[in-house]
Amino acid sequence: MTALAAGATIGIIGGGQLGRMLAAAAARLGYRTLVLEPQPDCPAAQLANRQIVAAYDDPEALAELVRECAVVTYEFENVPVAAATSLASDVPVCPPPAALEVSQDRVIEKRFLNAQGLSTAEFLPVDSDADFAAALRSLRGGVLKTRRMGYDGKGQRVFRDAGGADGVYAAMGGVPLILESLVPFEREISIIAARGRDDSLAAYDPALNVHRDGILHSSTVPSGVAPATAETARTSAFAILEALDYVGVVGVEFFVLADGSLLVNEIAPRVHNSGHWTEAACTVSQFEQHIRAIAGLPLGDTARHSDCVMENLIGDDVLRAPALLAEPGLMLHLYGKSEARPGRKMGHFTRLSPRTA
Ligand code: AMP
Repeated sequence: MTALAAGATIGIIGGGQLGRMLAAAAARLGYRTLVLEPQPDCPAAQLANRQIVAAYDDPEALAELVRECAVVTYEFENVPVAAATSLASDVPVCPPPAALEVSQDRVIEKRFLNAQGLSTAEFLPVDSDADFAAALRSLRGGVLKTRRMGYDGKGQRVFRDAGGADGVYAAMGGVPLILESLVPFEREISIIAARGRDDSLAAYDPALNVHRDGILHSSTVPSGVAPATAETARTSAFAILEALDYVGVVGVEFFVLADGSLLVNEIAPRVHNSGHWTEAACTVSQFEQHIRAIAGLPLGDTARHSDCVMENLIGDDVLRAPALLAEPGLMLHLYGKSEARPGRKMGHFTRLSPRTA
Protein backbone atom coordinates (compact mmCIF):
# COMPACT_ATOMS: atom_id res chain seq x y z
CA MET A 1 0.00 0.00 0.00
CA THR A 2 1.14 3.56 -0.59
CA ALA A 3 1.45 5.80 2.45
CA LEU A 4 -1.68 7.51 3.77
CA ALA A 5 -2.09 10.94 2.23
CA ALA A 6 -1.62 14.02 4.42
CA GLY A 7 -4.91 14.89 6.09
CA ALA A 8 -6.24 11.31 5.98
CA THR A 9 -8.15 10.18 9.07
CA ILE A 10 -6.92 7.45 11.40
CA GLY A 11 -9.59 5.76 13.54
CA ILE A 12 -8.63 4.89 17.12
CA ILE A 13 -10.79 2.48 19.12
CA GLY A 14 -10.41 3.30 22.81
CA GLY A 15 -10.10 6.72 24.41
CA GLY A 16 -7.50 6.41 27.18
CA GLN A 17 -4.06 7.92 27.54
CA LEU A 18 -2.54 5.63 24.91
CA GLY A 19 -5.10 6.85 22.37
CA ARG A 20 -4.30 10.40 23.44
CA MET A 21 -0.61 9.93 22.75
CA LEU A 22 -1.36 8.25 19.40
CA ALA A 23 -3.60 11.18 18.45
CA ALA A 24 -0.80 13.64 19.26
CA ALA A 25 1.71 11.64 17.19
CA ALA A 26 -0.72 11.36 14.27
CA ALA A 27 -1.33 15.12 14.31
CA ARG A 28 2.41 15.78 14.18
CA LEU A 29 2.63 13.66 11.02
CA GLY A 30 -0.24 15.59 9.41
CA TYR A 31 -3.09 13.12 10.01
CA ARG A 32 -6.52 13.57 11.53
CA THR A 33 -7.91 11.22 14.19
CA LEU A 34 -11.38 9.96 15.05
CA VAL A 35 -11.77 8.24 18.42
CA LEU A 36 -14.46 5.67 19.25
CA GLU A 37 -15.05 5.64 23.01
CA PRO A 38 -18.25 5.53 25.10
CA GLN A 39 -16.94 7.92 27.77
CA PRO A 40 -17.42 11.55 26.66
CA ASP A 41 -14.44 13.93 26.88
CA CYS A 42 -12.06 10.98 27.29
CA PRO A 43 -8.29 11.64 27.41
CA ALA A 44 -7.85 10.75 23.71
CA ALA A 45 -10.78 12.87 22.52
CA GLN A 46 -9.23 15.95 24.13
CA LEU A 47 -6.46 15.75 21.48
CA ALA A 48 -8.21 14.03 18.58
CA ASN A 49 -10.16 15.81 15.83
CA ARG A 50 -13.41 14.15 16.80
CA GLN A 51 -14.96 11.49 19.05
CA ILE A 52 -17.79 9.08 18.36
CA VAL A 53 -19.44 8.55 21.75
CA ALA A 54 -20.69 4.96 21.44
CA ALA A 55 -19.92 1.39 22.48
CA TYR A 56 -16.92 -0.25 20.79
CA ASP A 57 -19.21 -2.63 18.92
CA ASP A 58 -22.00 -0.19 18.04
CA PRO A 59 -22.87 -0.97 14.38
CA GLU A 60 -23.55 2.64 13.41
CA ALA A 61 -20.31 3.79 15.00
CA LEU A 62 -18.37 1.08 13.15
CA ALA A 63 -20.02 2.12 9.87
CA GLU A 64 -18.93 5.70 10.55
CA LEU A 65 -15.34 4.56 11.10
CA VAL A 66 -15.46 2.76 7.73
CA ARG A 67 -16.81 5.89 6.00
CA GLU A 68 -14.35 8.32 7.59
CA CYS A 69 -11.09 6.46 8.11
CA ALA A 70 -8.25 5.34 5.87
CA VAL A 71 -7.06 2.92 8.58
CA VAL A 72 -8.35 1.92 12.02
CA THR A 73 -6.21 1.03 15.02
CA TYR A 74 -6.87 0.41 18.72
CA GLU A 75 -5.28 1.39 22.01
CA PHE A 76 -6.40 -1.50 24.23
CA GLU A 77 -6.56 -5.25 23.73
CA ASN A 78 -10.13 -5.86 24.84
CA VAL A 79 -11.72 -4.46 21.69
CA PRO A 80 -14.48 -6.98 20.77
CA VAL A 81 -12.92 -9.30 18.18
CA ALA A 82 -16.19 -9.49 16.21
CA ALA A 83 -16.22 -5.68 15.83
CA ALA A 84 -12.58 -5.59 14.68
CA THR A 85 -13.13 -8.48 12.26
CA SER A 86 -16.23 -6.93 10.72
CA LEU A 87 -14.41 -3.57 10.34
CA ALA A 88 -11.46 -5.33 8.69
CA SER A 89 -13.61 -6.45 5.78
CA ASP A 90 -14.19 -2.77 4.84
CA VAL A 91 -11.13 -0.83 6.04
CA PRO A 92 -7.56 -1.84 6.97
CA VAL A 93 -7.40 -2.66 10.70
CA CYS A 94 -3.88 -2.55 12.19
CA PRO A 95 -2.72 -4.50 14.13
CA PRO A 96 -4.76 -7.36 12.64
CA PRO A 97 -7.75 -8.69 14.63
CA ALA A 98 -5.81 -11.97 15.06
CA ALA A 99 -3.54 -10.11 17.49
CA LEU A 100 -6.61 -9.32 19.63
CA GLU A 101 -7.73 -12.93 19.61
CA VAL A 102 -4.32 -14.10 20.83
CA SER A 103 -3.87 -11.46 23.52
CA GLN A 104 -7.41 -11.52 24.96
CA ASP A 105 -7.18 -15.01 26.39
CA ARG A 106 -4.15 -16.02 28.46
CA VAL A 107 -4.46 -19.70 27.50
CA ILE A 108 -4.68 -19.00 23.75
CA GLU A 109 -1.81 -16.51 24.14
CA LYS A 110 0.50 -19.03 25.83
CA ARG A 111 -0.35 -21.77 23.32
CA PHE A 112 0.41 -19.34 20.48
CA LEU A 113 3.74 -18.36 22.06
CA ASN A 114 4.73 -21.98 22.69
CA ALA A 115 3.85 -22.81 19.05
CA GLN A 116 6.37 -20.13 17.98
CA GLY A 117 9.02 -21.86 20.11
CA LEU A 118 8.84 -19.19 22.83
CA SER A 119 8.83 -20.32 26.46
CA THR A 120 6.22 -19.22 28.99
CA ALA A 121 5.42 -20.16 32.58
CA GLU A 122 3.90 -23.63 32.80
CA PHE A 123 0.13 -23.31 32.83
CA LEU A 124 -3.13 -25.21 33.11
CA PRO A 125 -6.66 -24.03 32.21
CA VAL A 126 -9.03 -24.06 35.23
CA ASP A 127 -12.77 -24.45 34.68
CA SER A 128 -13.96 -25.93 37.99
CA ASP A 129 -13.01 -26.48 41.63
CA ALA A 130 -11.76 -29.96 40.73
CA ASP A 131 -9.59 -28.56 37.91
CA PHE A 132 -8.12 -26.03 40.30
CA ALA A 133 -7.26 -28.56 43.02
CA ALA A 134 -5.58 -30.80 40.40
CA ALA A 135 -3.74 -27.88 38.76
CA LEU A 136 -2.52 -26.61 42.15
CA ARG A 137 -1.13 -30.07 42.98
CA SER A 138 0.48 -30.42 39.57
CA LEU A 139 2.20 -26.99 39.57
CA ARG A 140 2.74 -27.01 43.39
CA GLY A 141 1.12 -23.60 43.81
CA GLY A 142 1.05 -20.80 41.25
CA VAL A 143 -0.64 -17.60 40.14
CA LEU A 144 -4.35 -17.96 39.44
CA LYS A 145 -5.63 -15.47 36.88
CA THR A 146 -8.78 -14.86 34.90
CA ARG A 147 -8.21 -16.00 31.31
CA ARG A 148 -9.83 -12.87 29.92
CA MET A 149 -10.19 -9.15 30.79
CA GLY A 150 -7.38 -9.07 33.36
CA TYR A 151 -5.02 -6.09 33.49
CA ASP A 152 -2.72 -4.40 36.00
CA GLY A 153 -2.77 -7.50 38.20
CA LYS A 154 -6.58 -7.42 38.55
CA GLY A 155 -8.25 -10.83 38.90
CA GLN A 156 -5.08 -12.54 40.20
CA ARG A 157 -4.29 -14.60 43.33
CA VAL A 158 -0.98 -16.17 44.37
CA PHE A 159 -0.83 -19.67 45.93
CA ARG A 160 2.55 -20.57 47.45
CA ASP A 161 1.77 -24.29 47.80
CA ALA A 162 -0.83 -26.90 46.83
CA GLY A 163 -3.25 -26.06 49.72
CA GLY A 164 -6.26 -23.73 49.94
CA ALA A 165 -8.08 -24.70 46.74
CA ASP A 166 -11.55 -25.04 48.27
CA GLY A 167 -14.18 -22.58 47.02
CA VAL A 168 -11.65 -20.49 45.10
CA TYR A 169 -13.10 -21.15 41.65
CA ALA A 170 -16.52 -19.81 42.70
CA ALA A 171 -14.93 -16.90 44.60
CA MET A 172 -13.16 -15.84 41.37
CA GLY A 173 -16.61 -15.52 39.78
CA GLY A 174 -16.97 -18.91 38.11
CA VAL A 175 -15.27 -17.59 34.95
CA PRO A 176 -12.59 -19.42 32.93
CA LEU A 177 -9.25 -19.22 34.76
CA ILE A 178 -5.62 -20.16 34.21
CA LEU A 179 -3.13 -21.35 36.82
CA GLU A 180 0.43 -20.34 35.96
CA SER A 181 3.49 -21.67 37.77
CA LEU A 182 5.00 -19.08 40.11
CA VAL A 183 8.05 -17.88 38.16
CA PRO A 184 11.14 -17.19 40.34
CA PHE A 185 12.15 -14.31 38.10
CA GLU A 186 15.23 -12.21 38.74
CA ARG A 187 13.74 -9.22 36.99
CA GLU A 188 11.07 -8.25 34.50
CA ILE A 189 11.79 -6.61 31.17
CA SER A 190 9.73 -5.61 28.17
CA ILE A 191 10.52 -4.71 24.62
CA ILE A 192 8.66 -2.43 22.23
CA ALA A 193 8.93 -3.57 18.63
CA ALA A 194 7.26 -2.64 15.36
CA ARG A 195 6.55 -4.08 11.94
CA GLY A 196 5.81 -1.87 8.95
CA ARG A 197 3.53 -2.49 6.01
CA ASP A 198 6.64 -3.36 3.99
CA ASP A 199 7.53 -6.14 6.53
CA SER A 200 10.38 -4.04 7.98
CA LEU A 201 11.12 -4.62 11.66
CA ALA A 202 12.44 -2.35 14.42
CA ALA A 203 12.85 -2.62 18.19
CA TYR A 204 13.79 -0.29 21.01
CA ASP A 205 16.16 -1.28 23.81
CA PRO A 206 14.47 -3.44 26.46
CA ALA A 207 13.32 -1.72 29.66
CA LEU A 208 13.64 -3.04 33.22
CA ASN A 209 10.16 -2.90 34.77
CA VAL A 210 9.21 -2.71 38.44
CA HIS A 211 5.60 -3.33 39.42
CA ARG A 212 3.86 -2.22 42.62
CA ASP A 213 0.51 -3.80 43.53
CA GLY A 214 0.40 -5.34 40.02
CA ILE A 215 0.71 -1.92 38.32
CA LEU A 216 3.81 -0.76 36.45
CA HIS A 217 5.76 1.59 38.70
CA SER A 218 8.91 2.31 36.70
CA SER A 219 10.77 1.42 33.50
CA THR A 220 14.54 1.86 33.41
CA VAL A 221 16.74 1.84 30.30
CA PRO A 222 19.30 0.39 29.94
CA SER A 223 17.77 -2.62 31.65
CA GLY A 224 21.08 -4.15 32.76
CA VAL A 225 20.42 -7.51 31.08
CA ALA A 226 23.23 -9.26 29.19
CA PRO A 227 23.46 -8.44 25.45
CA ALA A 228 22.43 -12.03 24.59
CA THR A 229 19.27 -11.66 26.70
CA ALA A 230 18.40 -8.36 25.00
CA GLU A 231 18.92 -10.01 21.62
CA THR A 232 16.61 -12.89 22.56
CA ALA A 233 13.93 -10.37 23.58
CA ARG A 234 14.29 -8.69 20.18
CA THR A 235 14.14 -11.87 18.14
CA SER A 236 11.19 -13.15 20.20
CA ALA A 237 9.24 -9.95 19.53
CA PHE A 238 10.08 -10.18 15.83
CA ALA A 239 8.90 -13.82 15.71
CA ILE A 240 5.56 -12.75 17.26
CA LEU A 241 5.16 -9.88 14.76
CA GLU A 242 5.87 -12.12 11.79
CA ALA A 243 3.67 -14.99 12.96
CA LEU A 244 0.71 -12.61 13.24
CA ASP A 245 1.47 -10.78 9.97
CA TYR A 246 1.34 -7.76 12.24
CA VAL A 247 1.47 -4.08 11.33
CA GLY A 248 2.08 -1.60 14.16
CA VAL A 249 3.77 -1.51 17.56
CA VAL A 250 3.69 -4.41 20.02
CA GLY A 251 4.79 -4.57 23.66
CA VAL A 252 6.13 -7.91 24.89
CA GLU A 253 6.71 -8.52 28.62
CA PHE A 254 9.24 -11.08 29.82
CA PHE A 255 10.41 -12.68 33.03
CA VAL A 256 14.24 -12.91 33.21
CA LEU A 257 15.45 -16.03 35.03
CA ALA A 258 18.72 -16.27 37.01
CA ASP A 259 20.56 -17.81 34.02
CA GLY A 260 19.50 -14.94 31.74
CA SER A 261 16.89 -16.99 29.87
CA LEU A 262 13.47 -15.49 29.17
CA LEU A 263 9.86 -16.53 29.61
CA VAL A 264 7.23 -14.44 27.82
CA ASN A 265 4.66 -13.13 30.30
CA GLU A 266 2.29 -11.40 27.93
CA ILE A 267 1.82 -9.62 24.62
CA ALA A 268 0.15 -6.21 24.34
CA PRO A 269 -0.97 -5.60 20.73
CA ARG A 270 -0.56 -1.85 21.07
CA VAL A 271 1.71 0.87 22.37
CA HIS A 272 2.66 0.04 25.94
CA ASN A 273 3.16 1.86 29.24
CA SER A 274 6.70 0.45 29.53
CA GLY A 275 7.55 2.23 26.24
CA HIS A 276 6.63 5.73 27.37
CA TRP A 277 10.31 6.49 27.94
CA THR A 278 10.81 6.50 24.15
CA GLU A 279 9.13 9.91 23.85
CA ALA A 280 11.89 11.44 25.98
CA ALA A 281 14.97 9.35 25.12
CA CYS A 282 14.54 8.59 21.39
CA THR A 283 14.03 10.72 18.29
CA VAL A 284 11.01 8.66 17.25
CA SER A 285 8.65 7.61 20.08
CA GLN A 286 6.68 4.36 20.18
CA PHE A 287 3.57 6.45 19.37
CA GLU A 288 5.06 7.94 16.21
CA GLN A 289 6.43 4.50 15.32
CA HIS A 290 2.94 3.03 15.51
CA ILE A 291 1.46 5.79 13.34
CA ARG A 292 4.31 5.41 10.83
CA ALA A 293 3.74 1.65 10.63
CA ILE A 294 -0.04 1.75 10.16
CA ALA A 295 0.18 4.72 7.74
CA GLY A 296 2.61 2.84 5.50
CA LEU A 297 5.47 5.25 6.23
CA PRO A 298 9.06 4.08 6.83
CA LEU A 299 9.70 2.92 10.41
CA GLY A 300 11.73 5.41 12.46
CA ASP A 301 15.08 5.22 14.17
CA THR A 302 14.85 3.44 17.55
CA ALA A 303 18.26 4.65 18.79
CA ARG A 304 18.32 6.03 22.32
CA HIS A 305 20.26 9.25 23.00
CA SER A 306 20.07 9.06 26.83
CA ASP A 307 19.67 6.71 29.75
CA CYS A 308 16.33 7.16 31.45
CA VAL A 309 13.85 6.16 34.13
CA MET A 310 10.12 6.49 33.47
CA GLU A 311 7.80 6.53 36.50
CA ASN A 312 4.02 6.40 36.50
CA LEU A 313 1.98 8.90 38.48
CA ILE A 314 -0.83 6.83 40.01
CA GLY A 315 -3.76 8.48 41.83
CA ASP A 316 -2.55 11.24 44.18
CA ASP A 317 1.04 10.93 42.87
CA VAL A 318 -0.11 13.49 40.34
CA LEU A 319 0.19 16.10 43.12
CA ARG A 320 3.97 15.81 42.60
CA ALA A 321 3.63 17.50 39.21
CA PRO A 322 4.70 21.04 40.22
CA ALA A 323 7.83 19.76 42.00
CA LEU A 324 8.70 17.47 39.07
CA LEU A 325 8.37 20.36 36.62
CA ALA A 326 11.12 22.17 38.52
CA GLU A 327 13.64 19.38 37.84
CA PRO A 328 16.00 19.81 34.89
CA GLY A 329 16.28 16.88 32.48
CA LEU A 330 12.77 15.66 33.25
CA MET A 331 9.83 15.31 30.87
CA LEU A 332 6.35 15.30 32.45
CA HIS A 333 3.28 14.00 30.68
CA LEU A 334 -0.24 14.33 32.16
CA TYR A 335 -3.31 12.62 30.71
CA GLY A 336 -6.04 15.23 31.23
CA LYS A 337 -8.00 13.12 33.75
CA SER A 338 -9.85 15.35 36.21
CA GLU A 339 -10.37 12.81 39.00
CA ALA A 340 -7.34 11.17 40.71
CA ARG A 341 -8.85 7.86 41.90
CA PRO A 342 -6.56 5.34 43.70
CA GLY A 343 -4.86 3.05 41.16
CA ARG A 344 -5.72 5.35 38.23
CA LYS A 345 -2.88 6.25 35.86
CA MET A 346 -2.85 10.07 35.83
CA GLY A 347 0.45 10.71 34.07
CA HIS A 348 4.10 9.76 33.96
CA PHE A 349 7.50 11.38 33.86
CA THR A 350 10.87 10.43 32.41
CA ARG A 351 14.18 11.45 33.98
CA LEU A 352 17.02 11.58 31.47
CA SER A 353 20.72 11.17 32.19
CA PRO A 354 23.78 10.88 29.93
CA ARG A 355 24.01 7.59 28.06
CA THR A 356 26.27 5.03 29.77
CA ALA A 357 25.54 1.83 27.84
P1 AMP B 1 0.20 -9.76 34.45
O1 AMP B 1 -1.09 -9.03 34.60
O2 AMP B 1 0.04 -11.18 34.00
O3 AMP B 1 1.22 -9.02 33.63
O4 AMP B 1 0.83 -9.83 35.93
C1 AMP B 1 1.18 -8.66 36.65
C2 AMP B 1 2.47 -8.90 37.43
O5 AMP B 1 2.29 -9.98 38.37
C3 AMP B 1 3.65 -9.33 36.56
O6 AMP B 1 4.27 -8.25 35.95
C4 AMP B 1 4.51 -10.03 37.61
O7 AMP B 1 5.18 -9.09 38.43
C5 AMP B 1 3.48 -10.77 38.46
N1 AMP B 1 3.25 -12.12 37.89
C6 AMP B 1 2.33 -12.41 36.94
N2 AMP B 1 2.38 -13.72 36.61
C7 AMP B 1 3.36 -14.27 37.35
C8 AMP B 1 3.89 -15.61 37.45
N3 AMP B 1 3.41 -16.62 36.74
N4 AMP B 1 4.91 -15.80 38.32
C9 AMP B 1 5.41 -14.77 39.07
N5 AMP B 1 4.92 -13.51 39.02
C10 AMP B 1 3.92 -13.23 38.18
